[in-house]
Amino acid sequence: MESEYTSESRQDIIKEIEKLKKEKNAVILAHYYTLPEIQDISDYLGDSLELSRQAASTNASIILFCGVNFMAETASIISPDKKVIVPDNTAGCSLAESITGKDLQEWKEDNPDDVIVSYVNTTAEVKAYTDICCTSANALKVVKSIPSEKKILFVPDKNLGRYIRYKTGRDMEIWPGNCCVHNRFTTSVVISLAEQYSDAEILIHPESSCSADPYIHNHSRIFFYSTSGMIKHAVESKAQQFVIITESEIIHRLKQLCPTKEFIPAGPKAICRDMKKSTLENVLTALRDEKHEIRVEENIRKMAWPSIERMLKI
Ligand code: SF4
Repeated sequence: MESEYTSESRQDIIKEIEKLKKEKNAVILAHYYTLPEIQDISDYLGDSLELSRQAASTNASIILFCGVNFMAETASIISPDKKVIVPDNTAGCSLAESITGKDLQEWKEDNPDDVIVSYVNTTAEVKAYTDICCTSANALKVVKSIPSEKKILFVPDKNLGRYIRYKTGRDMEIWPGNCCVHNRFTTSVVISLAEQYSDAEILIHPESSCSADPYIHNHSRIFFYSTSGMIKHAVESKAQQFVIITESEIIHRLKQLCPTKEFIPAGPKAICRDMKKSTLENVLTALRDEKHEIRVEENIRKMAWPSIERMLKI
């Protein structure tokens, strides 16, 4: 997907973005699922965990976050002294929207002794009632760090939760949320792709709905990975062909890193529309006007920060 350029040429827009970044001491963080043009102008490209770490360590005064809103909120929780802005403040996430802070507060009140683990794809209010956050890259490590006698409440992604339960055997209650992109990847979809591309390695994200199917786990050419894990695997593997079962835009980065290898997307519907809301034009406007600012209320931020801090220490 490419944006349309009208009054200013693509190169002029990029030059202006670079100029404004220097003038304002701004940094652009972008997720692997954003448009290629955004990935290419970013200072840091990464998955949720990598971008959280960048938000924590940057010396910039302004963080321009290209992704979806919960990611910018997380950056604001981590770096309250920085101005966090987004190119389009309507970029939501079906997963983050599947649970509210009130839902989790009630669950916590009913289960006071249990440990609440929240996938980072949640709002600041949900993080405020969370004991520890995780991303798909560190979820197993986070869960293994919790004493084995403790029961875990995992929110909000049912597929990632089932994957963790399958891999760790932990006693977990799981919230029934899902990502509208990854939930389409059922066992039959994945097996059919594995049969169609019989020489390929199949790299699949644990937000997929077949995440706890033993048949998929025991398949010799199918590997579960976070987005950053997929990139590492593709770079290191001797295989030449890969089917990428996650949001398709990650293939832009994979092709840059492995130009001689072939990457096959999981199909035309493997697209997160909200991740495409950052464009060169609205990045330029956001930097120029320093909008749209994402700021988390201080009392919520103070409640939410410990759950992120515990994750970043793992
Ligand atoms: S890909 Fe799924 S989890 Fe990620 S932002 Fe889009 S809807 Fe949310």
